[in-house]
Amino acid sequence: MTFPFPDGRLFIGGEWETGRGAEITSVFAAEGVENMTLAGASREDVLSAIDRARTAQADPAWRNLKPHERATYLYRIAEGISANSERLSWLQSRDTSKSRAEARALVASAAATFRYFGAVLETSDELLTAPRGDYLTCSVHDPIGLVAAITPWNSPIASDAQKAAPALAAGNAVLLKPASWSPIISLELARIVEEAGLPKGLYSVLPGSGREVGNLLVEHPDIGKVSFTGGTSTGRHLAHVAAEKLMPISLELGGKSPTIVFDDCDEDQAIAGILFGIFSSTGQSCIAGSRLFVQRSIYDRFVARLVEATEALKVGHPFDAATQVSSMVHADHRDTVEAYVRAARDEGGEILTGGARPQGAGYDDGAYYMPTIIAGLANTDRTCREEIFGPVLVVMPFDDEADVIAMSNDNDYGLACGLWSRDHAKCWRLARAIRAGTVWINTYKQFSISTPFGGDGASGMGREKGRAGLRAYQRQKSIYDDHSGQPLPWARWP
Ligand code: NAP
Repeated sequence: MTFPFPDGRLFIGGEWETGRGAEITSVFAAEGVENMTLAGASREDVLSAIDRARTAQADPAWRNLKPHERATYLYRIAEGISANSERLSWLQSRDTSKSRAEARALVASAAATFRYFGAVLETSDELLTAPRGDYLTCSVHDPIGLVAAITPWNSPIASDAQKAAPALAAGNAVLLKPASWSPIISLELARIVEEAGLPKGLYSVLPGSGREVGNLLVEHPDIGKVSFTGGTSTGRHLAHVAAEKLMPISLELGGKSPTIVFDDCDEDQAIAGILFGIFSSTGQSCIAGSRLFVQRSIYDRFVARLVEATEALKVGHPFDAATQVSSMVHADHRDTVEAYVRAARDEGGEILTGGARPQGAGYDDGAYYMPTIIAGLANTDRTCREEIFGPVLVVMPFDDEADVIAMSNDNDYGLACGLWSRDHAKCWRLARAIRAGTVWINTYKQFSISTPFGGDGASGMGREKGRAGLRAYQRQKSIYDDHSGQPLPWARWP
């Protein structure tokens, strides 16, 4: 089954309009064909979206909605996503070359995210604080105003939902800039937001170059918060702009996450978890377990088994139900990954498997790359330090707990970590000692919308998801209300 692509218009302040900016082309990299070309947002388009957002957000019809009333919009958006899941996931696969199974899971996650934040909003209490005088003290939460959401191409519908759902729930207007490689799904999500009846102006989708559209949004004085997911260097630049404006910013950035295998683990489970951790999403995942540390006592046998299991993975077309490792998002990105593997060879890395494009019919026009395992490098080598964002795993031996904690933490990133051992006390010791926003024990890449997610160091700052995810889009205000009628001290002056 196929579905039509969107008509190429942008969602600017609640109206579908043809963009006046530079063209953007979405490709289906699995086949090396173009999906569609659209005109991105111009400076005027962005300014017009901001103007309309300001008016819509200030309207008491939105600002003063009771939480349970505002939540109904989120529930309707969730229903709309679920009702259109086949179409959305098909478009997501075409836009990013993700396997159908993965695209369906991302769509389900987006629906769950809107549903969850509707429920969080309805059930969030404001805090009455302990009295310290004859007045009532409480702390309430107001919307920030206009939120710019900037998302990457690797899981677009889920990233969009993770920002738009809590930001709308909190009573803001959202201006979303999707990645230039994946504009389609964000525009389709805008259709669903519109069909849910969200008041015009509160939601805009503005595809366009990061340097122009993205920067303009972030620098604009009316934008009160930026929520960014993407690369560390972009995030660092945006943090500078935010610091100048004294504007809150959340940054979900890259990773080089360690996976640690002890000699007392369930090896079959560990191998399954490691394969999924690094090679699902073709390694294009911020939380990919891309640095593997295996205890020296089992290193040779375990790595041999891992290589054998890797070679059994099905690399194929995203629409083939048997595919486990699909095409990469874009041929340019495949070339970047390929260059990293060349550099690893130059550093003295030994390619245990992969290290090449697959050959043969069905692969030639696509942006495929074989799942790759590299050994023989030190944790300090570039291949082991930098995020490759592709299906490339580096393996290293370790001797004991202290050794592996030091190696795991010897990296700028701090996003995730996987631990494989039957000794839970040991796992807990490591879980607390390793710098990471998320630790998985005897599992990997499990995700729950109710559990906070984010990174430390070069992996970013702030947390998304969880009940506190709503608070990231609100301003906290404390109110003292003197209801006693007692004369105040100065009222006693003659
Ligand atoms: P990217 O180049 O940083 O781009 C991310 C987004 O920022 C895109 O929409 C991009 O627009 C925009 N952008 C680029 N330069 C900008 C600027 N100067 N001002 C404002 N916006 C700008 O990252 P990517 O290559 O798309 O995504 C991959 C990265 O995202 C990886 O590092 C990955 O680890 C990270 N990521 C992190 C998480 C997490 O939750 N921690 C999740 C997913 C991905 P254009 O597309 O037009 O350049």
